[in-house]
Amino acid sequence: MSDVVWHGSAVVSTNNLTPETSKHTLMKGINLTNNFLVTDTIRSPFSRLKPVPFTSIQLEDNFWMPLQHLIREVTLSTQYQQLLITGRIANFERVTGNQNTPFLGLYFNESDVYKWLEAAAYVYAVSLDQDLSSLISDIVEKIIAVQQTDGYLNTYFVKDKENLRWTDLKDKHELYCAGHLIQAAIAVHRCTGNSTLLLAARHYADLIVKVFGPSGLHPDGVPGHPEIEMALVELYRHTGKARYLLQSSRFLDSRGQGVIGGKEYYQDHLPFRSLKRMYGHAVRAVYLNAGAADIYIENGDQSLLDPLETMWEHLSKYQAYITGGIGSRSEGEAFGSDYELPNHDAYAETCAAIGKIFWAWRMLLITGDAKFADDIELTLYNAVLVGIGLEGTSYHYSNPLSCDNMHRRQPWYAISCCPTNIARLLASITEYFCTISHNDIWIHQYATGTSRIELPSGNEVHLEQETEYPWDGTIKIRIKSEADFSLFLRIPGWCDSGAALKVNGSPWPEAVRPQSYCQIQRQWSPGDLVELNLPMPSRLMVANPGVSNIRDQVSIRRGPLVYCLESVDHENADLDKIRIMHSPGFSVENGQDALIGMKIIRTDDVYLQPDNTCEGGALYTYKDLSAPCDSNIRLTAIPYFAWGNRDYGKMRVWIRQI
Ligand SMILES: [Zn+2]
Repeated sequence: MSDVVWHGSAVVSTNNLTPETSKHTLMKGINLTNNFLVTDTIRSPFSRLKPVPFTSIQLEDNFWMPLQHLIREVTLSTQYQQLLITGRIANFERVTGNQNTPFLGLYFNESDVYKWLEAAAYVYAVSLDQDLSSLISDIVEKIIAVQQTDGYLNTYFVKDKENLRWTDLKDKHELYCAGHLIQAAIAVHRCTGNSTLLLAARHYADLIVKVFGPSGLHPDGVPGHPEIEMALVELYRHTGKARYLLQSSRFLDSRGQGVIGGKEYYQDHLPFRSLKRMYGHAVRAVYLNAGAADIYIENGDQSLLDPLETMWEHLSKYQAYITGGIGSRSEGEAFGSDYELPNHDAYAETCAAIGKIFWAWRMLLITGDAKFADDIELTLYNAVLVGIGLEGTSYHYSNPLSCDNMHRRQPWYAISCCPTNIARLLASITEYFCTISHNDIWIHQYATGTSRIELPSGNEVHLEQETEYPWDGTIKIRIKSEADFSLFLRIPGWCDSGAALKVNGSPWPEAVRPQSYCQIQRQWSPGDLVELNLPMPSRLMVANPGVSNIRDQVSIRRGPLVYCLESVDHENADLDKIRIMHSPGFSVENGQDALIGMKIIRTDDVYLQPDNTCEGGALYTYKDLSAPCDSNIRLTAIPYFAWGNRDYGKMRVWIRQI
């Protein structure tokens, strides 16, 4: 086990973290696409913003770079061990082996292998780690060996179950697994140049088009778990073959007609174009919406964008946690009613948060609307990062906002969708930081590092960014190139006053509005300096009164981060008895031990409610009005994403007020 840590006193090595694209061109026998993109909408007609390769940004910060290093050095290897231990790799080997060994685990377990492979490809693109490259090649060989002559590729529906192919689209996840296979194949091809998996994936995709096309065996087939929709559109982008885009549309259009039973759980109760809010299984719903957004990006069908916009608005107003997490009900892993946002029983699956980022990212590419980048920031720093332990080897599947010592991160799960999902997102996270449009550069997320961005004009712009984000809102961007372009900087919605911008020391004359982009257009010269200051006071937040379970409670937020209380910081004080004053004074301090590198928030403006003793074990008693409140306590709040990394105890995001 490596001693690499994400936060903590150990300084992580930065060796081998610099993308050395030139090395790629020296590697023999590899046909590199030089296309380090997860979502390649560069030629897509309805993508207002265009992504830049995630390798364009070289992180040099103390937040994301150590985390990516952790993913590379610790997370990937321990996840691979889990793939081995749990039989997920063996399930491929059993198909080609002579012995009649049983299938291990759940029928969709291979999807975790594909997501791991996708994460590994992204890590390789940056690290050029040859051991990882060999492992990727080994796994690719194991996968393609399973492929049947007609293109079918699945570890469960083979051998004695071959006759069950496509017989349970609702629950057996064949198309979900196929989608992850296709995404992995594209990532491996884009990042390593290895095309063998892509060829296999295309062969399988062609079979899917044949089986589920107008003349196929299942022309109205509907996948019970969306995922293939995104994958087929990306395969279209990668190959230029329109049949994949058409099939993706076909899967979307077949919904809501009762083919798989017509239930909300499967997003099959209404045609997609009639949806007004989020229903059913949260991960499925956001994957479906991301797929629908992908289709819109290619064909511009307004009747797809309209429900996407409507659903986003409804989700934001009624169905999302303060952390950005979604899918509040554990029953059915589902969206609840409006304002149904329990804290203790919050489901808020890590995958649902990740899927929301996939959807928001596509909406951002379509619209250039800062609200989507704002939500990516909120969800990423809170609802996603809480899903992985600071040591990089344990994961939350569900993410409550209140805990009584029973919730633990686990190294793996029987249904282990979240660990590999978080790995593939974090390994490619810089893709979400910056885009271009025409000859403009848009910065959506802030982090110290350098970037080389090629504009459509052919100019390569070199930028240096310096910030302590998310702990401090001062951002300096130095332009290192001679170029004429607009720089769009996101002013976060949380920064609703005091945002200030300077260009070469002069205050920017125009208004700097929250949840918008500030456009700075000029002929830039090397050395030009843009300084953005986003004040980050610690603030109390309240919920809409409709969220009845947290009326009269507050949550602490600073910048993009939601904070929480943990018992470990409040010795002898029951968190449920803490009452915070209406206008507390906060101090921001440096975290210690496991929280080194983080900012924690403290205040003395709190009281501890006295106990009411029920004499003789009575169930009810009269309140003792003379009992004094204890004011000799200090409240400590830590970033929500970091909870559960020290001694376990209670955790609370929402705090009662006096
Ligand atoms: Zn999951």
